[in-house]
Amino acid sequence: MRLSFGSTSVALGLLLLAPPAMAADQLKVVTSFTILQDMVKEIGSNHVEASTLVGTDSDPHAFEPTPNDAKNLAAADLVIVSGRGLEGWMDRLIMASGYKGPIVIASTGVPERTMVDEEGEDSGEPGKVIPDPHAWNSVPNGKIYATNIIAALSKADPADAAYYQKAGEKYLQQLTDLDNWVRQEFATIPKDERKLITSHDALGYFADAYGLQFLAPAGLSTESEASAQDVAKLIQQIKAEKIKAVFVENSMNQLLVKQIADETGAKIGGTLYVESLSKGDGPAPTYVKMVRHNVTLMVAALHGQ
Ligand SMILES: [Zn+2]
Repeated sequence: MRLSFGSTSVALGLLLLAPPAMAADQLKVVTSFTILQDMVKEIGSNHVEASTLVGTDSDPHAFEPTPNDAKNLAAADLVIVSGRGLEGWMDRLIMASGYKGPIVIASTGVPERTMVDEEGEDSGEPGKVIPDPHAWNSVPNGKIYATNIIAALSKADPADAAYYQKAGEKYLQQLTDLDNWVRQEFATIPKDERKLITSHDALGYFADAYGLQFLAPAGLSTESEASAQDVAKLIQQIKAEKIKAVFVENSMNQLLVKQIADETGAKIGGTLYVESLSKGDGPAPTYVKMVRHNVTLMVAALHGQ
């Protein structure tokens, strides 16, 4: 639309006279990754402006902050991270940005769990036992995250605390319903048949919560191309352990995946979202939708569908 000079100045005048826009009242929350950003939005709605450092479909372990990220942080009212070593890059970024405000660790209160850092991605020492950072993947832990976020928003923005409490309770109820649904879904599969192979190491808390067994694909690392010997090993493992479903990442080519399926009868599942959400039009744009998507794929594969 073309505006004449006259109407432009009228519009500007109105803008100047208007009370400070919504944005000025919004609590500026910077989160480390998309799952936290979603929870802050669910609980804070238009009382918060929630941004994320690591974007959709990205790896929260490995992140190269830009000067823009430091600028964004410097202007924040509140910073929320997941913790337990997930955001190894965060301390340096906080330092560089000069941010002096509160830093809330959303996983506070989640029971401890350890994992083996197979490739040394987090510790720099392959094979080292480290705290498992992937706490959000079980819904009971997701509720702990949400509870911590409700408290953090209320403290940082007391004027809107009543809103955060109310919206937060509603969100917690959604997560309770989600948790019940996940349990009902897995209850359709005998416990000793809830065995999947996945190259994701992010599902430990999830497996503990829902009585699943996740086995790492024998001989396959995410770094290298699979050799014929690796594939033979994997096929043997699937047969020996009577594994019904295999979820592999894109490091394996589709022909190979099909060969494994044909030779073992195991169902090859789709793409699981475990460390980041998808874009808005993808299958996992929110935490709740992410869990639903993953469980739907797993249960279908376990039923051989
Ligand atoms: Zn991870």
